[in-house]
Amino acid sequence: MAGAQEYVPAGTGLPELRRAVQDCQGCGLYRNATQAVFGEGRESARVMVIGEQPGEKEDRQGRPFVGPAGRMLDRALVDVGIDRTEVYVTNATKHFKFSRERGKRRIHQKPSRTEVRACRPWLEAELRVVRPDLVICLGATAAQGLLRPSFRITQERGAVLELPEHDARVVATIHPSAILRAEDRETMYQGFVADLRVAAGVLRSLQAG
Ligand code: SF4
Repeated sequence: MAGAQEYVPAGTGLPELRRAVQDCQGCGLYRNATQAVFGEGRESARVMVIGEQPGEKEDRQGRPFVGPAGRMLDRALVDVGIDRTEVYVTNATKHFKFSRERGKRRIHQKPSRTEVRACRPWLEAELRVVRPDLVICLGATAAQGLLRPSFRITQERGAVLELPEHDARVVATIHPSAILRAEDRETMYQGFVADLRVAAGVLRSLQAG
């Protein structure tokens, strides 16, 4: 797996990157997906939210976080007072990975560590252009891909960490899709909001400083 590096144009802004990602063949995931789904938000956004991969709806619409998990994220951001216009949303991998149930319904499959690594140059390009003060990782795939493979969401969620190479703080939490799958959604949601409240506090103190 060659990785995305050769497909990432150097020194360009988000519109050029968004166009170029459609030609990426850095791993095998481009073959079955409808299209690549690049990040969305302003270049001046102070917060970058990183999820796992585009889902079924995102794959069809070509936009990240437009499905039920995205709506839950939006609700939680409102609850903790993070302005959605200050947030750039993206994923660790840009193509939807799935299997087919009896040849029909597409079932989400977690991207492998190798696929996340292959896609990292796109994420690096987004981090270079947006230069967020704060990164919020949603779920283990995003946190392990960005920070380290040994990262454990259960143990390290809600902690304020550093991303020195991008001069940013990082807070990791669960992916909102885990809340949608949970039996006790309300408890899971409250935990998610508690982690995001830490992130909102970091943002406020950075803005005040
Ligand atoms: S998932 Fe990433 S590396 Fe793989 S083909 Fe898509 S954009 Fe390229």
